[in-house]
Amino acid sequence: MSIIKLSNVSKKYSNGTTALRNISLEIEAGEFTYIVGPSGAGKSTFIKLLYRELKIDRGSGTVAQYDLSKLRRRDIPLLRRSVGVVFQDYKLLSKKTVYENIAYAMEVIGKSPREIKKRVNEVLDLVGLKHKIRSFPNELSGGEQQRVAIARSIANAPKVLIADEPTGNLDPENSWEIMNLLEKINLQGTTILMATHNSQIVNTLKHRVIAIENGRIVRDQEEGVYGYDD
Ligand code: ADP
Ligand code: ADP
Repeated sequence: MSIIKLSNVSKKYSNGTTALRNISLEIEAGEFTYIVGPSGAGKSTFIKLLYRELKIDRGSGTVAQYDLSKLRRRDIPLLRRSVGVVFQDYKLLSKKTVYENIAYAMEVIGKSPREIKKRVNEVLDLVGLKHKIRSFPNELSGGEQQRVAIARSIANAPKVLIADEPTGNLDPENSWEIMNLLEKINLQGTTILMATHNSQIVNTLKHRVIAIENGRIVRDQEEGVYGYDD
């Protein structure tokens, strides 16, 4: 069963830049897929369409059971429950503790305080940061902040986890730690889609590779390689 399906999707920004042209692809539930390609190729735009940060302007797409073109504004939170997102710059709330950052993601969808407490402890345990539960983001290293961001992204048990350059600001050791976590989350059944420039990771931890250049899919390989010099 496809958990992500795009058919002939195009995206043009209001300044006239066409960022994606005629993208069609299917991703099966449980897959781990890398999105690679040069800077400006359209990777971030592609990812933003999937969690409805941006709207598709031509073609059609579904993520989990949601039709991206038909989704009403008030239903976007439903999609976001099925899709966790992790960014290069973590995007933790600086005035909230680790506990509060994760709890907040659950509060907005109406989980009970009891459920929240249990789940926050569970996901912090998974990322190995239970001892940082009362820390603020600026008291954590970059690697730790990204692990908290991952804990937050899976708090609501999404079907899909999307990561946009999750290791982009980390040294190799911390990057591998993040990859071990994503691998573990994938093995628990979550579909993972990760945009990356990290050739070492792509060439070592083999998964499907989709390459985008100039807004088009130019390569789609099982157990693929990074394929660029940068
Ligand atoms: P990547 O993530 O692969 O670096 P992006 O999806 O960020 O690529 O960008 C794809 C193209 O769209 C580039 O030409 C970029 O300059 C352009 N672009 C990205 N965001 C915007 C925006 N908000 N407005 C106009 N053009 C944009
Ligand atoms: P790394 O080796 O991952 O870059 P750091 O040297 O930044 O890590 O941090 C090492 C340890 O010190 C981490 O456990 C982190 O939580 C803690 N730490 C870093 N900065 C601060 C800070 N400003 N206040 C409190 N603890 C901090």
